[in-house]
Amino acid sequence: MNFHILTLFPEMVMQGLNTSIIGRASRAGLLAINAINIRDYSENKHHNVDDYPYGGGAGMLMQAQPVYDAWKSVVETMEKTPRCVYVTPQGSTFTQKMAKELALEQDLILLCGHYEGIDERVLEEIVTDYVSIGDYVLTGGELPAMVITDAVSRMVPGVLGNQESGRAESFEGNLLEYPQYSRPEDWRGKKVPEVLLSGHHKNIEIWRRRQAVLRTRERRPDLLEKAKLSSQEQEWLKGMK
Ligand code: SAM
Repeated sequence: MNFHILTLFPEMVMQGLNTSIIGRASRAGLLAINAINIRDYSENKHHNVDDYPYGGGAGMLMQAQPVYDAWKSVVETMEKTPRCVYVTPQGSTFTQKMAKELALEQDLILLCGHYEGIDERVLEEIVTDYVSIGDYVLTGGELPAMVITDAVSRMVPGVLGNQESGRAESFEGNLLEYPQYSRPEDWRGKKVPEVLLSGHHKNIEIWRRRQAVLRTRERRPDLLEKAKLSSQEQEWLKGMK
Protein backbone atom coordinates (compact mmCIF):
# COMPACT_ATOMS: atom_id res chain seq x y z
CA MET A 1 0.00 0.00 0.00
CA ASN A 2 1.24 3.48 -0.83
CA PHE A 3 0.74 6.44 1.50
CA HIS A 4 1.23 9.94 0.11
CA ILE A 5 1.35 12.47 2.92
CA LEU A 6 1.00 16.13 1.95
CA THR A 7 2.60 18.19 4.70
CA LEU A 8 4.70 21.23 5.61
CA PHE A 9 6.85 19.01 7.85
CA PRO A 10 7.92 15.93 5.86
CA GLU A 11 10.87 15.12 8.18
CA MET A 12 8.57 14.86 11.18
CA VAL A 13 6.29 12.41 9.42
CA MET A 14 9.07 10.30 7.91
CA GLN A 15 11.05 10.08 11.15
CA GLY A 16 7.99 9.02 13.08
CA LEU A 17 7.01 6.33 10.62
CA ASN A 18 10.44 4.93 10.00
CA THR A 19 10.77 2.88 13.18
CA SER A 20 9.63 -0.47 14.53
CA ILE A 21 6.97 -2.50 12.68
CA ILE A 22 5.98 0.20 10.18
CA GLY A 23 9.62 0.96 9.32
CA ARG A 24 10.33 -2.74 8.87
CA ALA A 25 7.30 -3.17 6.60
CA SER A 26 8.45 -0.21 4.49
CA ARG A 27 11.91 -1.67 4.11
CA ALA A 28 10.36 -5.01 3.14
CA GLY A 29 8.38 -3.24 0.40
CA LEU A 30 4.94 -3.96 1.87
CA LEU A 31 4.34 -0.24 2.37
CA ALA A 32 5.65 2.86 0.66
CA ILE A 33 5.40 6.04 2.68
CA ASN A 34 6.10 9.20 0.81
CA ALA A 35 5.93 12.67 2.37
CA ILE A 36 5.42 15.54 -0.08
CA ASN A 37 6.49 18.99 1.06
CA ILE A 38 3.67 21.40 0.22
CA ARG A 39 6.13 24.31 0.49
CA ASP A 40 7.97 22.99 -2.58
CA TYR A 41 4.88 23.92 -4.59
CA SER A 42 4.69 27.53 -3.45
CA GLU A 43 4.84 29.98 -6.35
CA ASN A 44 5.83 32.73 -3.98
CA LYS A 45 9.47 33.84 -4.12
CA HIS A 46 9.76 33.53 -0.32
CA HIS A 47 8.11 30.07 -0.43
CA ASN A 48 5.23 31.27 1.71
CA VAL A 49 2.23 28.96 1.85
CA ASP A 50 -0.08 30.89 4.21
CA ASP A 51 -1.99 34.16 4.24
CA TYR A 52 -4.57 36.08 6.27
CA PRO A 53 -8.15 34.80 6.24
CA TYR A 54 -10.70 36.97 4.46
CA GLY A 55 -13.16 38.47 6.90
CA GLY A 56 -10.52 38.83 9.61
CA GLY A 57 -9.93 36.70 12.67
CA ALA A 58 -6.89 35.25 14.33
CA GLY A 59 -4.19 33.23 12.63
CA MET A 60 -3.14 32.34 9.13
CA LEU A 61 -4.58 29.97 6.60
CA MET A 62 -2.81 27.61 4.18
CA GLN A 63 -3.46 28.82 0.66
CA ALA A 64 -5.21 26.75 -1.98
CA GLN A 65 -2.61 26.83 -4.78
CA PRO A 66 0.39 25.06 -3.15
CA VAL A 67 -1.89 22.40 -1.63
CA TYR A 68 -3.57 21.81 -4.98
CA ASP A 69 -0.28 21.59 -6.88
CA ALA A 70 1.24 19.21 -4.31
CA TRP A 71 -1.85 16.98 -4.65
CA LYS A 72 -1.70 17.22 -8.45
CA SER A 73 1.96 16.11 -8.45
CA VAL A 74 0.85 12.88 -6.78
CA VAL A 75 -2.28 12.13 -8.78
CA GLU A 76 -1.09 13.08 -12.25
CA THR A 77 1.09 9.97 -12.45
CA MET A 78 -1.81 7.66 -11.56
CA GLU A 79 -4.52 6.05 -13.63
CA LYS A 80 -7.12 6.33 -10.91
CA THR A 81 -7.33 9.31 -8.52
CA PRO A 82 -6.91 7.91 -4.98
CA ARG A 83 -8.97 8.90 -1.97
CA CYS A 84 -7.69 12.01 -0.24
CA VAL A 85 -8.18 12.19 3.53
CA TYR A 86 -8.01 15.64 5.09
CA VAL A 87 -7.17 15.22 8.78
CA THR A 88 -9.23 17.76 10.65
CA PRO A 89 -10.99 18.08 14.01
CA GLN A 90 -14.12 18.64 11.88
CA GLY A 91 -14.07 15.10 10.46
CA SER A 92 -15.65 11.79 11.44
CA THR A 93 -13.81 10.20 14.35
CA PHE A 94 -11.23 7.65 13.24
CA THR A 95 -11.96 4.06 14.28
CA GLN A 96 -10.48 0.58 13.85
CA LYS A 97 -13.28 -0.12 11.37
CA MET A 98 -12.14 2.84 9.25
CA ALA A 99 -8.54 1.62 9.48
CA LYS A 100 -9.58 -1.75 8.04
CA GLU A 101 -11.59 -0.14 5.30
CA LEU A 102 -8.80 2.26 4.26
CA ALA A 103 -6.32 -0.63 4.21
CA LEU A 104 -8.17 -1.98 1.15
CA GLU A 105 -6.92 0.99 -0.90
CA GLN A 106 -3.81 0.67 -3.04
CA ASP A 107 -2.96 4.36 -2.67
CA LEU A 108 -4.08 6.85 -0.05
CA ILE A 109 -3.40 10.57 0.15
CA LEU A 110 -3.34 12.19 3.61
CA LEU A 111 -3.50 15.97 3.73
CA CYS A 112 -2.14 17.71 6.85
CA GLY A 113 -3.30 21.20 7.72
CA HIS A 114 -1.41 23.72 9.82
CA TYR A 115 -2.04 27.19 11.29
CA GLU A 116 -5.82 27.77 11.25
CA GLY A 117 -6.38 25.18 8.53
CA ILE A 118 -6.69 25.27 4.73
CA ASP A 119 -8.61 27.44 2.25
CA GLU A 120 -11.99 25.76 1.84
CA ARG A 121 -11.95 25.92 -1.97
CA VAL A 122 -9.10 23.44 -2.41
CA LEU A 123 -10.66 21.11 0.13
CA GLU A 124 -13.87 21.07 -1.95
CA GLU A 125 -11.79 20.25 -4.99
CA ILE A 126 -9.58 17.38 -3.76
CA VAL A 127 -10.79 15.91 -0.44
CA THR A 128 -12.88 12.73 -0.39
CA ASP A 129 -12.87 12.03 3.38
CA TYR A 130 -12.69 14.29 6.46
CA VAL A 131 -11.23 12.41 9.43
CA SER A 132 -10.54 13.51 13.00
CA ILE A 133 -8.50 11.58 15.56
CA GLY A 134 -10.52 12.92 18.47
CA ASP A 135 -12.33 15.88 19.94
CA TYR A 136 -9.37 18.13 20.63
CA VAL A 137 -7.35 20.57 18.53
CA LEU A 138 -3.71 19.94 17.63
CA THR A 139 -1.29 22.41 16.06
CA GLY A 140 -1.01 20.42 12.85
CA GLY A 141 -2.19 17.39 10.91
CA GLU A 142 1.14 15.53 11.05
CA LEU A 143 0.44 13.54 14.23
CA PRO A 144 -3.08 12.59 13.03
CA ALA A 145 -1.67 11.52 9.64
CA MET A 146 0.93 9.39 11.44
CA VAL A 147 -1.74 7.86 13.66
CA ILE A 148 -3.87 6.96 10.66
CA THR A 149 -0.91 5.63 8.65
CA ASP A 150 0.15 3.44 11.57
CA ALA A 151 -3.32 2.01 12.24
CA VAL A 152 -4.07 1.42 8.54
CA SER A 153 -0.65 -0.14 7.91
CA ARG A 154 -1.21 -2.74 10.62
CA MET A 155 -4.24 -3.92 8.64
CA VAL A 156 -2.25 -4.42 5.43
CA PRO A 157 -1.62 -8.15 4.94
CA GLY A 158 1.91 -9.17 5.94
CA VAL A 159 2.73 -6.04 7.98
CA LEU A 160 2.14 -7.82 11.27
CA GLY A 161 3.83 -11.17 11.69
CA ASN A 162 1.52 -14.23 11.59
CA GLN A 163 1.58 -14.52 15.34
CA GLU A 164 0.55 -10.91 15.89
CA SER A 165 -2.11 -10.72 13.19
CA GLY A 166 -4.01 -13.83 14.29
CA ARG A 167 -4.96 -12.31 17.63
CA ALA A 168 -8.26 -10.64 18.34
CA GLU A 169 -7.27 -7.21 19.59
CA SER A 170 -9.27 -4.43 21.17
CA PHE A 171 -12.34 -3.35 19.15
CA GLU A 172 -12.80 -6.77 17.51
CA GLY A 173 -16.48 -7.51 18.01
CA ASN A 174 -16.77 -4.22 19.94
CA LEU A 175 -14.83 -5.55 22.93
CA LEU A 176 -11.59 -4.45 24.53
CA GLU A 177 -8.80 -6.98 24.87
CA TYR A 178 -8.42 -9.08 28.05
CA PRO A 179 -5.53 -8.34 30.49
CA GLN A 180 -2.21 -10.05 29.76
CA TYR A 181 0.75 -11.21 31.85
CA SER A 182 4.33 -12.29 31.20
CA ARG A 183 7.14 -13.64 33.41
CA PRO A 184 7.68 -13.77 36.37
CA GLU A 185 4.66 -15.62 37.77
CA ASP A 186 4.90 -13.57 40.94
CA TRP A 187 5.81 -9.88 40.75
CA ARG A 188 5.88 -7.93 44.02
CA GLY A 189 3.40 -10.42 45.45
CA LYS A 190 1.00 -10.08 42.52
CA LYS A 191 0.37 -13.47 40.97
CA VAL A 192 -0.55 -14.36 37.41
CA PRO A 193 -4.14 -15.71 37.35
CA GLU A 194 -4.02 -19.48 37.97
CA VAL A 195 -5.97 -20.41 34.87
CA LEU A 196 -3.29 -18.96 32.56
CA LEU A 197 -0.72 -21.37 34.01
CA SER A 198 -3.03 -24.39 33.71
CA GLY A 199 -2.41 -25.19 30.05
CA HIS A 200 -6.17 -25.82 29.73
CA HIS A 201 -6.90 -24.00 26.46
CA LYS A 202 -10.67 -24.05 26.68
CA ASN A 203 -10.69 -22.59 30.21
CA ILE A 204 -8.14 -19.97 29.20
CA GLU A 205 -10.31 -18.96 26.26
CA ILE A 206 -13.41 -18.64 28.50
CA TRP A 207 -11.46 -16.66 31.12
CA ARG A 208 -10.14 -14.27 28.48
CA ARG A 209 -13.54 -13.75 26.94
CA ARG A 210 -15.05 -13.05 30.35
CA GLN A 211 -12.29 -10.56 31.17
CA ALA A 212 -12.79 -8.83 27.82
CA VAL A 213 -16.52 -8.48 28.45
CA LEU A 214 -16.07 -7.23 32.03
CA ARG A 215 -13.30 -4.83 31.08
CA THR A 216 -15.35 -3.36 28.25
CA ARG A 217 -18.28 -2.90 30.59
CA GLU A 218 -16.05 -1.11 33.06
CA ARG A 219 -14.06 1.09 30.69
CA ARG A 220 -16.14 1.45 27.53
CA PRO A 221 -19.80 0.73 28.23
CA ASP A 222 -20.66 2.57 24.99
CA LEU A 223 -18.81 -0.13 22.99
CA LEU A 224 -20.45 -2.98 24.84
CA GLU A 225 -23.88 -1.80 23.72
CA LYS A 226 -22.86 -2.73 20.16
CA ALA A 227 -21.26 -6.10 21.06
CA LYS A 228 -23.07 -9.35 20.32
CA LEU A 229 -23.07 -11.31 23.59
CA SER A 230 -24.20 -14.87 24.25
CA SER A 231 -26.67 -15.54 27.08
CA GLN A 232 -23.75 -16.85 29.17
CA GLU A 233 -21.86 -13.59 28.61
CA GLN A 234 -24.90 -11.56 29.61
CA GLU A 235 -25.01 -13.61 32.84
CA TRP A 236 -21.40 -12.58 33.59
CA LEU A 237 -22.47 -8.94 33.37
CA LYS A 238 -25.38 -9.47 35.73
CA GLY A 239 -22.90 -10.80 38.27
CA MET A 240 -21.01 -7.48 38.18
CA LYS A 241 -21.80 -4.75 40.65
N1 SAM B 1 -9.16 26.09 12.94
C1 SAM B 1 -9.38 24.69 12.86
C2 SAM B 1 -10.72 24.32 13.49
O1 SAM B 1 -11.12 25.00 14.44
O2 SAM B 1 -11.35 23.34 13.04
C3 SAM B 1 -8.26 23.91 13.57
C4 SAM B 1 -6.96 24.02 12.88
S1 SAM B 1 -5.67 23.12 13.68
C5 SAM B 1 -4.98 24.34 14.72
C6 SAM B 1 -4.46 22.91 12.44
C7 SAM B 1 -4.52 21.58 11.71
O3 SAM B 1 -4.26 20.54 12.61
C8 SAM B 1 -5.83 21.24 11.04
O4 SAM B 1 -5.94 21.82 9.78
C9 SAM B 1 -5.76 19.73 10.97
O5 SAM B 1 -5.11 19.28 9.80
C10 SAM B 1 -4.93 19.37 12.19
N2 SAM B 1 -5.70 18.86 13.35
C11 SAM B 1 -5.86 19.48 14.54
N3 SAM B 1 -6.59 18.75 15.38
C12 SAM B 1 -6.91 17.61 14.73
C13 SAM B 1 -7.67 16.45 15.08
N4 SAM B 1 -8.26 16.33 16.27
N5 SAM B 1 -7.80 15.47 14.16
C14 SAM B 1 -7.23 15.60 12.94
N6 SAM B 1 -6.51 16.68 12.55
C15 SAM B 1 -6.35 17.68 13.42
